[in-house]
Order: sequence, then C-alpha cells, then structure tokens
Amino acid sequence: MNDLGSPPSVISADLRVIASGSAGNLSILTIERYDDPRPTHVCIDLGIGPRTLARRLETHAPDIDLDHVQAVVITHPDTDHLRPTWCRSLEARGWPVFAAPSHHAALARHGVPGTQLRPLSDGGRRVSVVKDLLDVTIALGPHDDHGSAVLRFGLDTGPTPTTIGWATDIGRVTPPVRDLLAGCDLIGLESNYDPKLQSASQRPPFLKERITGGHGHLSNQEAKNAVFAISDRDRLETVVLLHLSRECNDPEIVRQLWKASNAELAVELHIADQDLPLDPIRVFGAIDSGPADELPYPDLMFDFRV
Ligand SMILES: [Zn+2]
Repeated sequence: MNDLGSPPSVISADLRVIASGSAGNLSILTIERYDDPRPTHVCIDLGIGPRTLARRLETHAPDIDLDHVQAVVITHPDTDHLRPTWCRSLEARGWPVFAAPSHHAALARHGVPGTQLRPLSDGGRRVSVVKDLLDVTIALGPHDDHGSAVLRFGLDTGPTPTTIGWATDIGRVTPPVRDLLAGCDLIGLESNYDPKLQSASQRPPFLKERITGGHGHLSNQEAKNAVFAISDRDRLETVVLLHLSRECNDPEIVRQLWKASNAELAVELHIADQDLPLDPIRVFGAIDSGPADELPYPDLMFDFRV
C-alpha cells in the first residue's frame, strides 16, 4: 500500500536486462498501471551509450519508448554503469538520476547535470523513485574506493509490495547487503568470475587481487552461496545472474554450478549477457504465466538462449 493508503495501481511489471558486463550495464524495469495508459520505465544503470541502447531497443524491445522513462537509478559511478556519452541526452530528457549521495560528485564529473541528481538514502530510508509506485532502499556494498549501491526496489502491488534486489560490483556480501536482499521476490546478483579461469588468466596479479580480494566482484560460487543463504524460499521466484566476465567466466560453468542444486531452491534462473538482451522477465502480473508455473522440473528452469 502506498503512503496515501490508496489502492495499488500496478497491473504488471517486467524486467529487461539490455546489457550486463564490464563493457556496460543497463536494465529497464517496465511497469504497467491502471491509472495511466502509458507504461512507466525505470533504467537501472546507463552503462551503454544512447546510440547503442537505441540499436538494441530497435531490434529487441521496440515497444520501449524512452520518452516514457521516469527515473534512472545508478549503482555506482564507474563508466560501465554510467557512460559519459549520456551527458547531453540526460540534459535534454531531464530524467531524474537517483544515486547514493557519496556518488554524486563522481557522477557530476561524468556529466550528469547536477540539477537532475537525486539522493538515495545511505541511512537505509526508503526513497520514492516514481511517486506512489516504486521506491528504493540501498546499502553500500564494498567495491573499490566508493562502494556500489545495492538496491532494493519496492513496487506498490498491494499490502505486500513486490520486491526486487539488485547487487552488482560488490566484493563480498556484507551483513547490511544480506539484510537488504532478504525476502525479495527477484534477486539480480552479479556472478562475475570462475576462480580457476581467473587465476589462469593473463591478468596482472594486482588486478586479480583487486577483483577477488573482497572489494571487487563476486565469484560464481560466492553468488550462489549468497542466494541460498539470503533467500526466503517461499518468496524468491527468480534469480538473474549479472556481470559475467567474458575473460574469466563461461555461462556453461554457471549453468552447471546451479543445475545440481536448483532443485532445492526451485527458482527461475536467467544468465545475463553482455551483448544480447534477455527476453522480458515477469516480476509481477495479475495473471502469472511465467515458466516457473509451466515447467515441472526445476533444473530445466534456465534461459537457454545464453
Ligand atoms: Zn561493473
């Protein structure tokens, strides 16, 4: 229920992962509502440029009209999450850009107009991103010097909001991050590298240390362990694995890792790709016809396109 106590207005919500990985991250949450015939889109990160996004929408999601984007949420100010080429488009479109206050200065340096920056609360308070429709709570996860905002979206779908947890570019799952992601209906979590491929790679030792040392990224196993430790099994329906390294990971390794144990968790599992957008993932809908209801065998619940 929203703050005004009025009935929920959401008909459906779908998530589209347009790009995921160190060459750029961008996802779009699309909400259909009873009180507005136009969809509401919210972008999570803008890590591919406007022209690349336009090309991908044209081929994979022609129904998305960027004129209907109402907000942008940025996890952290690395250029694979906010590409500086957005500078002029952001100004022209006037989208509000929500981010942790400690990230604002770096985002402004990347060209986000200061008047469009909106603070998320690093004290754990819910912040409304789209009025009476969508709010976000964050916890800062450890990543390089400034951390990465782990997001918990709350969608106004009635007495029990539908919740989406989103955690990318975090070195480890700290207690505040774990608490924030607990009880979500959908969790998007990075599954960055396979430790054997990482250690066998030609990367310099300092870089390997940066990635694996608790302030870089989560390995496949760490991501899986986190989901199993965090999830409320009665609620969690969908897991989206994000930000796979092209050099030090392989979707097939990830699939095999999950295949053995997903029967226990029984979630619909998607593995995001750097270049190929995923089909829309149903987050909420009055008529739920997702694959989880159709497939009797949990270990078949993979997105086989990637
Ligand atoms: Zn990244």
